[in-house]
Order: sequence, then C-alpha cells, then structure tokens
Amino acid sequence: MPLTLHVATTNPGKLRDFAVAAGPHGGEVEFVRLPGMERIEPPPENAATFEENARSKAVEYSRHAPGCIVLADDSGLEVDALHGAPGVRSARYAADAGFAPESLRASTDDARNNAFLLENLRGVAKDLRSARYRCVLATARDGECISVAHGTVEGTILEAPRGCGGFGYDPLFYLPEFDRTMAEISLEQKYTISHRGHALRRLLMQLIPSPQEASNL
Ligand code: IMP
Repeated sequence: MPLTLHVATTNPGKLRDFAVAAGPHGGEVEFVRLPGMERIEPPPENAATFEENARSKAVEYSRHAPGCIVLADDSGLEVDALHGAPGVRSARYAADAGFAPESLRASTDDARNNAFLLENLRGVAKDLRSARYRCVLATARDGECISVAHGTVEGTILEAPRGCGGFGYDPLFYLPEFDRTMAEISLEQKYTISHRGHALRRLLMQLIPSPQEASNL
C-alpha cells in the first residue's frame, strides 16, 4: 500500500510536480490534496526562515485532517549579491517594495518579481550573480511535526530572461552545468536537479527508508 501524503496546497500543479519529483519512490507514495483546503484559514507565512514557515503550515493544516500525514512546503530564491534576498519573501518580492512600474501594471506577480530582481542586480558583474533555490518540506500529523527535509540547487541570475517553461524566477535562473535556464529544461529534468526534488527525496527517505539510496543524495 503506498504511503498517502495530504499536500497542503490549492494548486493542482503541485501534486503533479511532487509525483514527478518522487522519482524512484513514485510507486511507494501518493500525493492527494488536503480536503477542504479552500475553507481553511491559511496560517501566516511570516517567519524568518523557510523551515519555520514549512513546519508551521504542516502542523496547522494537520489539525484539520485527523490521522493524516500532511505535507507542506516553503521555498524561494536566495541571491548572494542581495544578501540572500528575496528569500522567504520570494513570492511577494516586488509587492513588498511597492515595485509596480506603469509598463508592468497588467503583468503577473512573477513578471514584476523578475523585473525587480533585474533592477536590483543592475550593474552586478556576471561572476557575482550567484544564487540558489531553497526548499524546505515538512510533514505533520495531528498537530505534531514528523519530519523536515531541505533541498537546494545552485545557479546564477542572468541579465535577461530565457525560456518559457517553469514559473517564478525560472527564466532568470541559469544552470551552468546544463547551459540552460530552469525555464529551458523539461519538468522531469527540473525535478531531478531542483531544490524541491532533492528535498522531497530526502523527506521520502525519512518516511520510507531505503538505505542504498542514502549515499546518492
Ligand atoms: P512557494 O513556496 O512554492 O509558495 O514559492 C515561493 C516563491 O518562491 C514562488 O512564488 C517563486 O517566486 C519562488 N520559487 C520557489 N520555487 C521556485 C521554482 O522552482 N522556480 C521558480 N521560482 C520558485
């Protein structure tokens, strides 16, 4: 019987992403949406670290699903030249700063965040544009945290977007070993190498231990 993880998300794309990211554990786990998510008041996501946000989301949501293992995540982009910003504020980077130029009024949050990132990195040399995506996943049952796992992927921030896949900062996030941005690789490739993929496989190793895999992560 596969392990069922109830994912605290209203985004159906995330369930598919986790299923792809599970890789070799695919047959041992199923991801289902936490029922009634839309009726649950979301806990505040205002902690200083990804881990605190992921833990508190998992713990809070698990109180609404007695006996279920609830999976929650928090993730974002850290840019070294910006002292780790946007970090835990990645989704709200431009909005927090009130960055909304006339030309981007009708654009998405992602487009405004990317434009704001480029603005803040204007004039920063190529070799000083190092960055990473970070993801923390946490599971909880009946209000108790069960496990936490971290994942990162290293890259650099380009001076202009490339590619149309992915989401968020992907068109600016360049992976030197692929000579591609995160928006130019397939979903399968992305989850093999990404912060979320690494974190998920580490989490599954805790929940479904498989000793010979430990050395590969
Ligand atoms: P969340 O934790 O999934 O809500 O992600 C927070 C924010 O971090 C997103 O809105 C994106 O701006 C950024 N982010 C996290 N993971 C990724 C990724 O894989 N690609 C691009 N942006 C990401």
